[in-house]
Amino acid sequence: AKKQGKDQCAVFEPAMRESFQKHLEMEADLRRAVLRHEFELRFQPIVRLRDQEISGLEALVRWQHPERGMIPPLEFIPLAEETGLIVPIGEWVLREACRQAARWNAQRSSDTPLTVSVNLSAVQLERADLPMLVTSALEESGLPAKCLIIELTESLLVEHRPETLQRLHAIKALGVRLAIDDFGTGYSSLAYLRNFPVDIIKIDKSFVDDIGDMPAAAALTLGIIQLGQALQLSTVAEGIEHIEQLSELTGGNCELGQGYYFAEPLTTDAMDNLLFPNPPP
Ligand code: C2E
Ligand code: CA
Ligand code: CA
Ligand code: CA
Repeated sequence: AKKQGKDQCAVFEPAMRESFQKHLEMEADLRRAVLRHEFELRFQPIVRLRDQEISGLEALVRWQHPERGMIPPLEFIPLAEETGLIVPIGEWVLREACRQAARWNAQRSSDTPLTVSVNLSAVQLERADLPMLVTSALEESGLPAKCLIIELTESLLVEHRPETLQRLHAIKALGVRLAIDDFGTGYSSLAYLRNFPVDIIKIDKSFVDDIGDMPAAAALTLGIIQLGQALQLSTVAEGIEHIEQLSELTGGNCELGQGYYFAEPLTTDAMDNLLFPNPPP
């Protein structure tokens, strides 16, 4: 057994060195990406289930790497958080999302402006200047505060410090709304609803996925919707892909939904076309 362990070690070491090497390369790449502005936003519609009108958009970041092509957020956000690069990246995301949303709202004739939802990382919340950044993004874009929604994950709220709560209150005082993302996947979701000034619950995709396959998933989803209603919070179901899921959620009076069934995250141009279809020739 001992010999085998040694062999495994011999095989493992170069692999480890290689992955460490990759990590360093990727970090250097990411630093360059920040300097060269290699990030783009996609926008996914958030739809009012009652009439299937678009009520808002979620901004989702992408890294357009010069050689490797489009890199999805889950492949670089963790490294960006580890290195602190999420701070300049997240600042750009916030400013750009507000700017685009303000532009679309100015073009729309509708008197109910679109909301824009921006994901925030725990690292960003650790910064004392976050409320200032939000203020400046709103002022510079002209987007009304009520149109901005900040999405926070439960994991972010688990390890919070007292300052975090103060910062969230400062942001809410501007008129910005807060959403708990991936609701139901954390350890004590219910405690966050009591302790944090939340306005919106986003029901995690894993619940929506299992509607139709697992009666328990449907029951839990409907339970979360009712909980939201009792607390006067908006509920958004994430990851709606099938009409069966949509009808279950609509039947349960879920207010909003998001997912490939309606639209995938779209480029700015594609969103332009969706919001302002060209008149037929
Ligand atoms: P999230 O905030 O939960 O975003 C929803 C993810 O689900 C997005 O993946 C979206 O493309 C995907 N999605 C939406 N509808 C469907 C569907 O019907 N089916 C399936 N299978 N997937 C669907 P994406 O864009 O790859 O983002 C992944 C995660 O990366 C996000 O999860 C969020 O946690 C993080 N992220 C994205 N943009 C940012 C950002 O600007 N800042 C930070 N801190 N995190 C971000
Ligand atoms: Ca989100
Ligand atoms: Ca989510
Ligand atoms: Ca998620």
